[in-house]
Amino acid sequence: MMRQYHRLKLSGYTVPQIIALTASVGTNKKNAFDHLVHVCANLDCLEICAIGKGVEEDELRNSTNTPLSDTILSVPKEISDPIVKALKDDVMKAIASRLGYDISMMDNQKLETFLAVEHDNACKKNDRDAIIGCDYLKKFHRFLIYYDDLPLVECIQWLIEGLKESTAGNPTQFDKFCRIKSDEFLKFVTIQISNSIEVKAKLKKLVEMIIYLHTGNCRGLVLVRTKFHAVSLETFLNKHSDLKKRQIFAGHLTGQGSAEELSLPGNQQSKVLDEFRKGTKQLLVATDVAQEGLDVAECSYVIRYEFVSNEIGTVQSRGRARASQSKCFLITEALSLNYQRETDNRLKEEDMKQAITEWREKGIQEFRTLVQKEQTDLLKNLSTNGPQPTALGASQPNKETAKTIHCRFCDTFLCRGSSLRLQGTTIVCLDPAFEKLVNPPKSAGEKVVCPNRTCHRELGAVILLSRNAPGYALQISSLKFFIGNEMLPRLFKKWSQYQGYMQPL
Ligand SMILES: [Zn+2]
Repeated sequence: MMRQYHRLKLSGYTVPQIIALTASVGTNKKNAFDHLVHVCANLDCLEICAIGKGVEEDELRNSTNTPLSDTILSVPKEISDPIVKALKDDVMKAIASRLGYDISMMDNQKLETFLAVEHDNACKKNDRDAIIGCDYLKKFHRFLIYYDDLPLVECIQWLIEGLKESTAGNPTQFDKFCRIKSDEFLKFVTIQISNSIEVKAKLKKLVEMIIYLHTGNCRGLVLVRTKFHAVSLETFLNKHSDLKKRQIFAGHLTGQGSAEELSLPGNQQSKVLDEFRKGTKQLLVATDVAQEGLDVAECSYVIRYEFVSNEIGTVQSRGRARASQSKCFLITEALSLNYQRETDNRLKEEDMKQAITEWREKGIQEFRTLVQKEQTDLLKNLSTNGPQPTALGASQPNKETAKTIHCRFCDTFLCRGSSLRLQGTTIVCLDPAFEKLVNPPKSAGEKVVCPNRTCHRELGAVILLSRNAPGYALQISSLKFFIGNEMLPRLFKKWSQYQGYMQPL
């Protein structure tokens, strides 16, 4: 966006002055002061201001509550879990080795990347077994990630639902093999559940902390990483007898985004927030939608449950604890990646404070000079580097515009690249031929699926455009693009990687 801004400014247009507000400047992997200069150069802001020392600082301190403490609670790492072992050793390894993959030495992060790449390769080669195998492995992998933090019952429910979607119309030998392997695993889990397995240490810690912190008319916020975490923790907490006894009830809050199933529409969001404000629900389990800006005066504790974002997130989450004498916590496994990241964030936080001090010491004139110098470098890069502007600049289909777009899973033709339109940041298909071919549902939020009956994979969701006309928001992970005269399709992970022209709606 700023590239467009600077280009327009350079070519003599009058552009508006940008005013930016922030609660924490961030570091963006550099030194916070250099980052501050860089951000200002980018935003074309030559001057900044901050709360003044002395009177202003006192005024701020007296008008807002700051949490008394922010503590990292580390729980011991789980020792080997029979369910994890059974899934990894008996199921995932068996499926992987049939496909010629060796996944035994991969950690979670590596495995995720590996499966994404193999899945893309399999799609390119149209290797059905590999596509199916990767699909199973991805679901098992996701299950393991969820099960790291969440109750078994909720995670297994998720897996069962997910595996239902993987059932193909005409199963191959390999399909059947995967199916048998996962059924064996599900049977094993059922036995484990009936023998009542131990609740995870971090879940116990969470309940313990809620009980310890919960007094009178207070509210508590539990911040989590994914929508699934929010939904399943809500269920878990509301089932917990010790919390029920104390009449502590939880609700969940997740983002809007129309293409995903666990998201909440706006009116649901405000209902949940209302219940939290009124106190009919005293606990809110939320994803990072609540990390910024949620202002409930009674909120007296914030627990981040295995959720660490960046240094800004660490500062922001603390700001949700609005009551006086409030407290913040992070529950994470000892020596985990999250533990490490949080420790880093706290160092960066000191660096951000230092940046403001440094800015004060330098004074207006010297800071301005630094920003202008940075801007000179930035504008030099602007003329030599970077993609040309798409939505605003180019007004014609360019050579990166896809000729045709197909289903990534079965190759079925879906639409032409020229039928794509930009609605804000959402990409929708506007083409009567697409509608006729795919025969999508008409109400907002419903899934659009591939017209090929044996495929039927999700392509996106229905959203409402102006005058309530339905539009079809496509997810790029279900599509392949044929561009120019290229023989092989191109696959993208994010819409921002696709450089074709899309007309704004
Ligand atoms: Zn398809």
